[in-house]
Amino acid sequence: MKVAVVGAGPAGIRAVEVLVAAGLRPVWIDEAAEGGGRIYQRPPAPLKRDAKALYGFEAGRATSLHAAFDALRPQVDWRPETLVWHIRPGAKQLHTQSGPRRDQVEYDAAILCTGAMDRVVPLPGWTLPGVTTLGGAQIALKAQGCGIGRRVVFAGTGPLLWLVAYQYAKAGAEVAAVLDTTPFATKLAASPGMLRDAATFAKGIYYIGWLRAHGVRIAEGVTPIGIEGEAGVSGIAWRDPGGREQRVDCDAVGMGWGLKPEAQLADLAGIPFRHDPLQWNWVPERDVAGRTAIAGHYLAGDGAGIGGAAVAELAGARAALAVLEDAGRMVDAAQLSRLDAALARQQGFRAALDRAFPFPRALAAGVADETILCRCEGLRAGELRAALAADHAPGPASELNRAKAFSRAGMGRCQGRVCGTAAAEIMAAALGSTPEAIGRLRGQPPVKPIPLVAEPVA
Ligand SMILES: Cc1cc2nc3c(=O)[nH]c(=O)nc-3n(C[C@H](O)[C@H](O)[C@H](O)COP(=O)(O)OP(=O)(O)OC[C@H]3O[C@@H](n4cnc5c(N)ncnc54)[C@H](O)[C@@H]3O)c2cc1C
Repeated sequence: MKVAVVGAGPAGIRAVEVLVAAGLRPVWIDEAAEGGGRIYQRPPAPLKRDAKALYGFEAGRATSLHAAFDALRPQVDWRPETLVWHIRPGAKQLHTQSGPRRDQVEYDAAILCTGAMDRVVPLPGWTLPGVTTLGGAQIALKAQGCGIGRRVVFAGTGPLLWLVAYQYAKAGAEVAAVLDTTPFATKLAASPGMLRDAATFAKGIYYIGWLRAHGVRIAEGVTPIGIEGEAGVSGIAWRDPGGREQRVDCDAVGMGWGLKPEAQLADLAGIPFRHDPLQWNWVPERDVAGRTAIAGHYLAGDGAGIGGAAVAELAGARAALAVLEDAGRMVDAAQLSRLDAALARQQGFRAALDRAFPFPRALAAGVADETILCRCEGLRAGELRAALAADHAPGPASELNRAKAFSRAGMGRCQGRVCGTAAAEIMAAALGSTPEAIGRLRGQPPVKPIPLVAEPVA
């Protein structure tokens, strides 16, 4: 049986581990050079930093996953620095690109473990040099050992906001402020549910406590006004919960409002999606084992709905067992029920986390007309609103893909992965509709840009 696994993060590593233990030699593809995924991203070989400095509390887990990856690599067909840019589910084919090299991978079963990316709300000034996503800021630190600035503000909401601010401060950067759009009371109300994973909850409390104890300016329940600067970032302004305007000088901003699944391949595979009201994301549908409505196609990890690294490991192993079960192989029933029980236990914690850090819908819906919404196309929010108001035969654009055709929102290099969430909120507010009714931008190949000079394999 030919099995292909896309992604070598926690989900992909545990999936491949199960497949190899069953005597298979899967094709394993990642656009990164090394295994580890986002959370356990490894720096390039010449950059030596010890695991504790890179991964903090997660050092043990990172080391164990890296060791698992290193042991698996010679036992599989490992294809690093290779992007899967298209999937043809009928033909059971992945289309890949590695540098100028183009290839196709045939499979009987594919496990897509493609992870997540930051969810963004466009702010005035967010396209200035010196502004990155929270994840981007963290990757600069983890993969390159450098920061995005000397005096940095972190803005947004979610666990990553506090973690990255802590990591920067620990690494010696001056963290000028942490601005959380979620009020403290919202987090407090969700805290009993977060006790379901007391160890993870305690880490979150520690990061916040550490930042407070070290005098970092913290503001919660804020409404960002905008990032200031001419040729680069010089400050950020916001309104506090009392409506008073505040500002602070800084030379860089890391911002993000939670994560969204990188689910373009799932989309191209024809897997149905649903709008998850808690995560406030479109997520591909799958059962607890990662099976989807498209036979031979399985999902695991954050690409199937944001669950975090621990869930990704469990879900990767579970999806690989589902592949084996569906191929008529014997699987260990005790292992199955252990994994199912562990996945079920995590659900309550995740739901509480989503309640603790809700997506700020009003902020996204209210992006000012003159603010750039789609940075690939240089399109301002007002231009999307104008396209919605225009009279298009046979009727106005009330669905996101139609609005894209009229306005070019989401038409550029990133295919709406960055602006799609805010565009849907803006449309929903303008039309008195809901993001669920507005829909989501359909995936298009290539899922990410590929070189025009592409030679077929000899
Ligand atoms: C930038 C960033 C930083 C994060 N940092 C933290 C953190 O510090 N702590 C924490 O608890 N959580 C963090 N998270 C969340 C955490 O990464 C995930 O919960 C966890 O890594 C999920 O594991 P995964 O295996 O599902 O996906 P990932 O670890 O994201 O792995 C997915 C892999 O798939 C590969 N891939 C994706 N699409 C393709 C494609 N088309 N072709 C080829 N390869 C592809 C990617 O290169 C990646 O290696 C972070 C997320 C992001 C996006």
